[in-house]
Amino acid sequence: MPKLIILGTSDSVPDENHDNTHMLLIGKTRRVLVDCASNPVMRLRRIGVEPNSITDIIMTHFHPDHVSGVPLLLMNMWLLGRHDQLNLYGLEHTVRLMEQLLDAFEWERWQEYPVDIKRLRNKNMTLVLEAPDLRIVSYPVNHFVPAIGLRFEFPGSGKVVAYTSDTAPTANVAWLAQGADILLHEASGESEGHSSAAQAGEMAKQAKAKALYLIHYPTGLKNPQDLVAEASRNFDGPVVLAEDFMEFEFD
Ligand SMILES: [Zn+2]
Repeated sequence: MPKLIILGTSDSVPDENHDNTHMLLIGKTRRVLVDCASNPVMRLRRIGVEPNSITDIIMTHFHPDHVSGVPLLLMNMWLLGRHDQLNLYGLEHTVRLMEQLLDAFEWERWQEYPVDIKRLRNKNMTLVLEAPDLRIVSYPVNHFVPAIGLRFEFPGSGKVVAYTSDTAPTANVAWLAQGADILLHEASGESEGHSSAAQAGEMAKQAKAKALYLIHYPTGLKNPQDLVAEASRNFDGPVVLAEDFMEFEFD
């Protein structure tokens, strides 16, 4: 049955227990990594996932705390003997800059397996990928650079998880998380292009999400549970602080 494993929950600055925000979806035929800031190989091995079993990498936007690990992961895949195609997805802005970064690392000298780079439309309800047990759709969100939030649909159980990536409050978050069983909402703090926990609660209410999980939150807070209390002021459903290695299974 499909699974979602949270591999990191921190904002830009990680600590010893919170890596930069990224996650893995495991389906029957697809293993999808969403964002890749640090080197995910260590965490994948810790959860018993062979790095070369990853079939797809979705990049939500071109900021270092979301995608700077992509060149190293691609190189590690080659060194681990990869032959299978890898699919890499992002908006035009994200993909263009990632290609420049890979060119700077002269990836054409070492990249021997096929990489299919897929440019996503910057439009609501853009289909990213579809497998029998997993469907992923993207929505533009409101950040400094073009960025997407993702809606993960699990047809077997009818369950839905939404992930905002980095965003200020926007109607599109309510759309992408409409009726979601779990809304993974960033809580970096109220500033341009980002959201506070209170704003995440407000968006969860607007989206009629069933549960709110705060993610991409600041490390080093004296009392991180304050964020939960803050979000709960605006949202009546359960609010949880996401932690690295949390797992969700969908029958
Ligand atoms: Zn960002």
